[in-house]
Amino acid sequence: MFYNEEFETLPREALKALQLKRLQQVLQRVYHTVGHYKKALDAAQIKPGAITSLADLPKLPFTTRQDLQENYPFGLFAVPMSSIVRLHASSGTSGRSTVFGYTKRDVETWSELMARCLVAAGLTKNDIIHNAFGYGLFTSGLGLHFGAEKIGASVIPMSGGNSKRQIMILQDFGPTAICCTPSYALHLAEQGKALGLDMKTLKLRVGIFGAEPWSVSIRDEIETIYGITALDMFGLSEVMGPGIAMECQEGRGGMHIFEDHFLVETINPQTGEPLPEGEEGELVFTTLTKEAFPLIRYRSGDITRLITTPCRCGRSHIKMERVMKRSDDMLIIRGINIFPAQVEAILADIEGLEPNYQLIADKISALDSLELRVEVSEKIFSESGSVKELQNIEKRIFKDMKDYLGITPRVKLVEPNTLKRSNGMMTKVIDNRRRA
Ligand code: ADP
Ligand code: ZN
Repeated sequence: MFYNEEFETLPREALKALQLKRLQQVLQRVYHTVGHYKKALDAAQIKPGAITSLADLPKLPFTTRQDLQENYPFGLFAVPMSSIVRLHASSGTSGRSTVFGYTKRDVETWSELMARCLVAAGLTKNDIIHNAFGYGLFTSGLGLHFGAEKIGASVIPMSGGNSKRQIMILQDFGPTAICCTPSYALHLAEQGKALGLDMKTLKLRVGIFGAEPWSVSIRDEIETIYGITALDMFGLSEVMGPGIAMECQEGRGGMHIFEDHFLVETINPQTGEPLPEGEEGELVFTTLTKEAFPLIRYRSGDITRLITTPCRCGRSHIKMERVMKRSDDMLIIRGINIFPAQVEAILADIEGLEPNYQLIADKISALDSLELRVEVSEKIFSESGSVKELQNIEKRIFKDMKDYLGITPRVKLVEPNTLKRSNGMMTKVIDNRRRA
C-alpha cells in the first residue's frame, strides 16, 4: 500500500533526474537568500550553477551542527518570518539549541511524508492511533499527528508521561496502533503487567517506534509482549522531523528514505570522504524541497549503511539499516538528545562548581536514567555550615537541566578531584545501557 504511489515507486532513473533538478533549485535558492550558504559556497569557490550532476554533490561544503548553532535562532531561514507557520526547537540553552521553521508548504510536505510512513505500516482511516511521542517544541509528536490526520485516522494526542492514564486509554479507546520510543513501549508494558493487564489483549496490531536506537532483539521483545508488528521510523528535526525514513511491512529490515525529498550520502566520519553505497558511515542529508529551512549536506552524526537491493514492497527508494551508532558524543535519554557541551554550558553558569562532571546513563527497568556527578570547588566544600548551600546548588543544577534540556537527572555533588580520570582525562560520559 502506498500513500503517493507515483512518487514512492518512481523508477530510479526518473528519481535521480528529479533529485538533480530539485538540488539545482535549492542551491540557487539558498545561495541567494541565506548568508551562510553564500559565504560557504564562495569560500569553496563553487557557484550554485556548477552542479550539473549528482556526482558533483561532494564538491559542496558540509553543513554542521555548529553552523546551526552559530546561526541561532533564525539565521539559516530562507524565507521571511511572515512565511513561517510553525517553529520547533531542540533542547538546550540559548545558542546551543536549534530552531526549525516550516512554511505552510513545508508542513504540507511533512504531513504527506508522515502519511506515507503510516500507510507503509498498513494503517488507514479505519485505524485509531495512540500517539505517545512528545508534543510541544519537539518535532515527533506533532509531526506524526499531522500525518495521522492526513490519512484520516483517529489520532489520540497522548504525548509522553502519565503511564497509568496511557494504559487506561489503551484499554478504553481501543487504539489499533501505538507510536512512541521503543523504551517507552517496554515501560508501558511493565506498567500494564503491574496492573494485571496482558498487552496482547489490547486491540493494537501495529507499533511505530523511533527517536532512539533499538536493536532487533528489542523489536522481537516488543512484538512478543504486545502481539503486534513493530516497525522502525527514523528522522531528525534538522532535516524535517520524524518521517524521513520508514520501514515497510513487506520488506522488513531497513527503512526507505523518501528520496524525492531528501538526498542521502554516507561519508567517512573522520575524513569526510564519500563512501560507496552500502558501506557503513555517517549519513549526510540534503533537503530537496524544504522552503523555510533548507539544509545542504547536513552531517547527521548517525552511523549506518544504505541498502540498495530492490525491496519487495515496490518502493523504489533506497533503504537505510537501523541506526545504532553515532559519530559524536550525543546521548539520547528517553528520546531527548543531549550533548555534554550543553551540560557544560549549564554548569558554567552556576557558581561554586569545578568544570569537572560525569554523565552516567543507565536503564532502570525499561527506561533511561541519567546521573550527573559534579565536582564542587574547594572553597565551597571546605566552608563550614555549607550543607544547605550544597543542596541549593544541587537543586539549581537539577532545575536548569529540566528547564533547558528536558532531562531530570539525579544530581550528585562530589568533592574536588574525586571523579575518575584515566590518564589525567575526565571520562565525561559513561553509558551503561545495553542495547542488546
Ligand atoms: P526525534 O524526535 O526523531 O528523535 P530529534 O531531532 O530529536 O528527532 O532526534 C534525531 C536523532 O534521533 C537522530 O539523529 C538519531 O540519532 C535518533 N533517531 C531518530 N529515529 C531513530 C531510529 N528510528 N533509530 C535510531 N535512532 C533514531
Ligand atoms: Zn519496502
